Amino acid sequence: MSELSARAGAIKPSRTIAMNQRARELRESGVDVIDLTVGEPDFPTPLPVREAAKRAIDEGHSRYTPVAGYRELREAISRKLARENGLDYEASCVMASCGAKHCLANAILALVDPGDEVLIPAPHWVSYSELVKLAGGEPVSIATRAREGYKLSPAALAATAGPRTKLLILCTPSNPTGAVYSASELKALADAMAPFPRMWMLSDEVYEHIDYTGSPHASPASIASIRGRTVVVNGVSKAYAMTGWRIGYLAGPDYLVKACIDLQGQMTTNATAVAQRAAIAALDSGTALIEGMLEAFRARRELVVSGLGSMGGVSVLPPEGAFYAFPDMSGFFGKAAEGGAGPIRGSDELAEYLLETARVAVVPGSAFGDDSSVRISFATDDERLREALGRVRSALALLG
Ligand code: PMP
Repeated sequence: MSELSARAGAIKPSRTIAMNQRARELRESGVDVIDLTVGEPDFPTPLPVREAAKRAIDEGHSRYTPVAGYRELREAISRKLARENGLDYEASCVMASCGAKHCLANAILALVDPGDEVLIPAPHWVSYSELVKLAGGEPVSIATRAREGYKLSPAALAATAGPRTKLLILCTPSNPTGAVYSASELKALADAMAPFPRMWMLSDEVYEHIDYTGSPHASPASIASIRGRTVVVNGVSKAYAMTGWRIGYLAGPDYLVKACIDLQGQMTTNATAVAQRAAIAALDSGTALIEGMLEAFRARRELVVSGLGSMGGVSVLPPEGAFYAFPDMSGFFGKAAEGGAGPIRGSDELAEYLLETARVAVVPGSAFGDDSSVRISFATDDERLREALGRVRSALALLG
């Protein structure tokens, strides 16, 4: 019998991190692997943000801060939400945590009891279901399809929700599919929530700025009927190339934020003081410092979508946001390379084949609850991306 808690035993380690680790080990042993598993911008944190952090060190920001973050940071978050999203949240209704992931954990722990169901449209980011399990809740995936843009329909939501449903987790723009919900699609989902007054919405908007639709980002918190039971989660990791700084934030009703502050106060106290000062500079800069990065992602998206789209047997939906392509490669299942191992039986074996044969690391779709696809990150420079696409094309061509 394990000496570990049932809780620890129930948690699956992140497959993205596992693939990333394998790619790193191969590279360290001298193999030229192109790593397309990465979930972080390959750009440096903008200089003015780094300068703000250096100043913060010199000015002595080296002590505990209030649990919810410096007042100046909470005000900067509140300004950001008003300016960029048209959302009106007092500084007392926002808080900073150690990354958006920690905000999600806080919100889920504050809302979900054992026995509660949490609806998660699939394919979905790996951590949602594990965080729900940590809270004792039951993750319920709702499959979405490529031909529907990988979006949850109001009908599917209404058909799956029930008296035990406590939460719906939506990710827009989505990791891994790139789906972006429009304001009217969100309104239709909010309408479908009406018969279920227990149900909250947890809206993960960390890829907000990486959006190719040309329309302004839409947040469910702007919908009056659900605003009182919506939690918005965002952060500086993806927007400002600051994954290592670990600053995320959430906004919601005051009593929910207070509960999150109480939870965080017992678990991590505050997010890092110096990183908080850097986040203030980032948030106050709007998108001025990241236009170049966003332009590069737009160009790479074209490169990857056209490269994958021209490979026989691969079908790819152009992502509307984020920096991932999620091509369906199930056409290669059941096929084998001459003289190679047996036929490929799913996305895990396909990812393994691409790693072994093409020396390209991708994340199998099974990690996100969709075994027909793999996730390809384009947070890598154009030259490496071109090289990777060429290698994948050649490796797939060997499968007959
Ligand atoms: N949500 C999604 C959908 C993500 O992809 C990630 C990071 N991979 C996060 C949240 C966590 O972001 P952070 O670095 O702010 O914790």
